[in-house]
Amino acid sequence: QQQRAKRPDWLRVKLPIGPEYASVRKLVDTYKLHTICESGNCPNMGECWGAGTATFMILGNVCTRSCTFCAVATGRPNEYDTDEPRRVAEAILLMKVKHAVITSVNRDELKDRGAEIWYQTVRAVKEASPTTTIETLIPDTKGNWDALIRMIEGGQEVVSHNMETVERLYRRVRPQARYERSLEQIRRTKDYGQRTKTGIMLGLGETQDEVLKAMDDLVENGCDILTLGQYLQPTKMHHEVIEWIHPDTFAMYKEQGEQRGLKYVEAGPLVRSSYHAERHVHV
Ligand code: SF4
Ligand code: SF4
Repeated sequence: QQQRAKRPDWLRVKLPIGPEYASVRKLVDTYKLHTICESGNCPNMGECWGAGTATFMILGNVCTRSCTFCAVATGRPNEYDTDEPRRVAEAILLMKVKHAVITSVNRDELKDRGAEIWYQTVRAVKEASPTTTIETLIPDTKGNWDALIRMIEGGQEVVSHNMETVERLYRRVRPQARYERSLEQIRRTKDYGQRTKTGIMLGLGETQDEVLKAMDDLVENGCDILTLGQYLQPTKMHHEVIEWIHPDTFAMYKEQGEQRGLKYVEAGPLVRSSYHAERHVHV
């Protein structure tokens, strides 16, 4: 079984210790914030936090969904904190973040899917740090298109919504999501005049043809930027790693994606949706 084989060398990363790392740690704790870096056990924490950047996760750290790859806890969310936008903005100001990435859990139980907090957060960051650029990595609004508009009308530079995997694997990987609906969300985000971005994880059992088909669907639906990275299993309870994708295959996908019409493809084993995100602002 391939998933029992040890991680290939190209996935080994350095341990995160250093003064910048410690100061990000302190701010996250002081302002009672959540980050997907920690909640998602991201292998790049050493690099990103060491460079003074992090991806904040708003609207709590309990999600209404149960995607089988994701380390965030599933359950009934209990946080709805109208002061959160201010604290996120203050932390970003103190960290002197030049490009901020913000994401959230899914809040399917809220009528507006959390859109108002999203809007207020983007506004608060822009007011506190007018030169900071923002990427919002937004959840699936489950076809609530009014909520989508509220979520994206705050004035960020990039709007991301992750497809996560190919169409065939949706039922196993994102059971509460629909491939077509996520594509439509990207299409509508584009129609609203935004720079659009998505991420797909590889190694979940998808074929190369399925990845290429997803790229064509993304181009057709107005997606500008695509990130492709290796899926890592957070715990034994999560979806298994079916395949370790070789760096050369990532390079092939980058070339293919850009040939097919995506404006920019960031591809590599350690690429995460928020990795090197500052490069995507001017695409
Ligand atoms: Fe955090 Fe994203 Fe960096 Fe991972 S790649 S540590 S999630 S900012
Ligand atoms: Fe994780 Fe997002 Fe899925 Fe929630 S919706 S389980 S946070 S990937």
